[in-house]
Amino acid sequence: MQTPDPRQMTAAAQSRGLTGGQEQTGLAGANGKAVSLDVIQAQGTITELRMELNRMQRTIRLTIQARLLHLQGQSCDTLEANQTLATELHELLDSQGLRVQCSECGHPAILRASPRKGSPRGAFVFDHTINGRRTFHGGAGVIPELRLVAKPKRAKATRREPK
Ligand SMILES: [Zn+2]
Repeated sequence: MQTPDPRQMTAAAQSRGLTGGQEQTGLAGANGKAVSLDVIQAQGTITELRMELNRMQRTIRLTIQARLLHLQGQSCDTLEANQTLATELHELLDSQGLRVQCSECGHPAILRASPRKGSPRGAFVFDHTINGRRTFHGGAGVIPELRLVAKPKRAKATRREPK
């Protein structure tokens, strides 16, 4: 059996449309049936979008990281000010799905300012959960190098993390 020429088919449909209009409008999807979507093509659109968003997110991450560079090696005068700074930094990073990377173990972490004996400014620590346990690393008196990484995917509801 020969494959019909699509051009001929179109011509045939058009001539039908010209003579008996109703039949053609029925074919064009006006009867409520969805026009069938090519799955491969749709997936291609999603893949392209995902790649584009990944590039944009990378740009956002590198932009924030570059801006934070000048905070490195510095500290506010009080623990409270450092804590406020750390909280605001975390909120900003969290809004972009980011965490700081622990300089000691490489895990995604939240930078916090903790009280430290003998230091009115406190110390900067990396707060993270390792093997299900809340762990603190670092402890420098100044803001450490801030490398940004993607926030890890949330574990399923089986594990509850301390607030
Ligand atoms: Zn660590």
